[in-house]
Amino acid sequence: MNLHPNFEEVVDKGVKALNRVPIIWLELADCSGNSEAFIKSTNPAIEDLIFDYISLDYHELLLMSSSGDQSESVLESVIREKKGEYVLIVEGAIPLAMEGKFLRIGPKGETGLELLQKSAKDAALVIAVGSCALDGGVVAAAPNPTGAVGVAEALNRNDIINLPGCPTNPINIVGTLLSYLMFEELPQLDRFNRPKWAYEGRVHDNCERRGHYELGEFVKEWGDNGAKKGWCLFEMGCKGPYANVNCPTMKFNNATSWPVQAGHGCMACTEVGFFDKYANERVYKG
Ligand code: SF4
Repeated sequence: MNLHPNFEEVVDKGVKALNRVPIIWLELADCSGNSEAFIKSTNPAIEDLIFDYISLDYHELLLMSSSGDQSESVLESVIREKKGEYVLIVEGAIPLAMEGKFLRIGPKGETGLELLQKSAKDAALVIAVGSCALDGGVVAAAPNPTGAVGVAEALNRNDIINLPGCPTNPINIVGTLLSYLMFEELPQLDRFNRPKWAYEGRVHDNCERRGHYELGEFVKEWGDNGAKKGWCLFEMGCKGPYANVNCPTMKFNNATSWPVQAGHGCMACTEVGFFDKYANERVYKG
């Protein structure tokens, strides 16, 4: 988060408060990639994260000891008894076409929209995790037959924190929760409601292949000599110049790698409309 060492005490206080905040994690229309990335959290490790640092009371896909009716009653009791205290994390898009019937979840067959509205109403904070939760993402790709939208649009609210990414780096999820607890207010956000500390830097500016871009050394074909030498992927469709996020500096899986390091161009998955606007075009034409 680029905080000065003087903040050590504040960070410590925030970490201690973190596991007292109940968290509900909804899984709506998506591929569950953010949950997958989250369980691969290494710093802190996922087992430390869920046992020591956060109170993940309800996660309907992966990380719950309860199942069936019991898990539903956990959700209901957090919503009922922890009004104004719990944090709602939402992964996935919300289909609105056909009154939301494209997505039904749980024993009562609630639509994704009903589940979201019910869970968001009394949450202290709503965090939309992943590109689908930002604006529908891949689920909303043209022609968007399910009428999928993101969390802010579905709830018609402008106070949702967006952490887009396909997937979102778990470091950015934990960091956002921490900053909320440390400073008791929303972090500074950009025009897409993304925390500036994580989404301010341009991928292109921090990319290890940037020197090759400046020298005009581009990969022209997968597997060519330039690819072997780690040259710039711009001509292979890399959208790093149009994307803002800390992937090149934070990386994934214990900071092992990130897409460009692994040889695949950036798809600008943190940007609004990324799938139709960037991912499908080899060269972005503006
Ligand atoms: Fe920029 Fe992509 Fe080339 Fe990296 S690989 S320098 S992000 S265009």
